[in-house]
Amino acid sequence: MAWDFETDPEFQEKLDWVDRFVREECEPLDLAFPHLQFHPLTPERRSVIDPLKEEVKRQGLWATHLGPELGGQGYGQLKLALLNEILGRSLWSSIVFGCQAPDTGNAEIIAHYGTAEQKEKYLQPLLDGECFSSYSMTEPHAGADPTLFKCRAHKDGDEWVINGWKYFSSNAKTASFLIVMAVTDPEVSAYQGMSMFLVPTDTPGIKIERNVGLWGEELNQGSHALIHYDEVRVPADNLLGGEGQAFAIAQTRLGGGRIHHAMRTIAVSQKALDMMCERALSREVSGGKLAEKQFVQGYIADSYAQLIQFRLFVLYTAWEIDKYNDYKKVRKDIAVAKVVMPTVLHDIAWRAMQVHGALGTTNEMPFFGMVHSAGVMGLADGPTEVHKVTIARQVLRNYEATDGMWPTQWIPGKVEAAKAKFAHVLELEVGNL
Ligand SMILES: Cc1cc2nc3c(=O)[nH]c(=O)nc-3n(C[C@H](O)[C@H](O)[C@H](O)COP(=O)(O)OP(=O)(O)OC[C@H]3O[C@@H](n4cnc5c(N)ncnc54)[C@H](O)[C@@H]3O)c2cc1C
Repeated sequence: MAWDFETDPEFQEKLDWVDRFVREECEPLDLAFPHLQFHPLTPERRSVIDPLKEEVKRQGLWATHLGPELGGQGYGQLKLALLNEILGRSLWSSIVFGCQAPDTGNAEIIAHYGTAEQKEKYLQPLLDGECFSSYSMTEPHAGADPTLFKCRAHKDGDEWVINGWKYFSSNAKTASFLIVMAVTDPEVSAYQGMSMFLVPTDTPGIKIERNVGLWGEELNQGSHALIHYDEVRVPADNLLGGEGQAFAIAQTRLGGGRIHHAMRTIAVSQKALDMMCERALSREVSGGKLAEKQFVQGYIADSYAQLIQFRLFVLYTAWEIDKYNDYKKVRKDIAVAKVVMPTVLHDIAWRAMQVHGALGTTNEMPFFGMVHSAGVMGLADGPTEVHKVTIARQVLRNYEATDGMWPTQWIPGKVEAAKAKFAHVLELEVGNL
């Protein structure tokens, strides 16, 4: 009967260490060095960050998303889920633990599809935490539907030449290289006609037109680049995977990434619930504490119920990934986690904000940022609606149409069938009455 909700005591000890370390060492970094996680380290910041990274390495917790062949622990997704639900408390923690998105997903696909030379040049510095990377797929006119992408790459001798626009290439401004998705054969279906390229950011012809910011950030000071690729030339061996393999690569990349976001969202939602409870127990209103008011009790109960369901589902999905070792098999449940995630965070953060009154809406508390990031989560890595379509399609695969006039569960028909099945008993019973 292997259906276990307990953590190995040995791993729990590690989690307890991580919990203390994130609270004491990483959360203060978010306040001292806000929005600087993806900037190269200055000597001053390096003097703080490097010793923390060293401590994480000593604990055997560096880049735990990687298999042992790449210097990670090969923990698998379930352990990673338990770890990430702590790391998600702080934005800096994933840098300190060597597991920051989008570099994790980018490293994953180079490890999977890259040649030995590509791994040495692009993967190793990423794994060492010494550079950043950017994933350049979305275009200004098309995002959710990649079959509409126009950015082109054509072969010229032993070089590929890339032309087109990309939008929302996160961290491009500080990245050392970009992974660019481009149409290489417009004559075939988009699923066979697009390829991925490894492109150093200092290649001539790359122009960041704007660094688009999210709400609240200064105009043009954000992290999401609008990029013009104008006759950008890379050697033929900068092709990642085979020609026409971009879709397959993109699927590999997003499978892991989506579930990691869900894991970290548990941490943020838990943080909002913790703050809601503390405030409810502390704030006096007419006739007693907020915690004694049924509306507020409802907020707390609903939040706990949403969070515990989400957490168990994310852990279950992580367990499925480890069990099947095949993202395709778990695609539906990864999509469910992706779809549920923004709502859970939004609802809990919104209630926590409400319980804090005016203070909750200010830039002195984190709630509005959480609500905003819930909105962002409904888009990054694909809009909720598109994932719902995936879920529905996969669910429908288990069903078939009925060709009769009535549904198979039509009660009069079922009653007739049941009566026919037990006709001999029913006749006797009638006879005995
Ligand atoms: C914070 C953040 C970081 C990002 N980072 C990156 C990155 O690093 N690299 C990168 O390439 N991209 C990145 N993206 C882009 C992201 O992948 C796209 O925003 C996403 O795929 C949606 O594309 P779009 O914004 O063009 O929306 P559109 O494709 O224009 O869709 C708009 C809306 O239309 C609706 N819709 C679309 N399709 C359907 C459908 N089939 N059925 C029903 N409704 C539909 C949905 O409501 C959707 O939200 C990032 C986005 C955000 C917000």
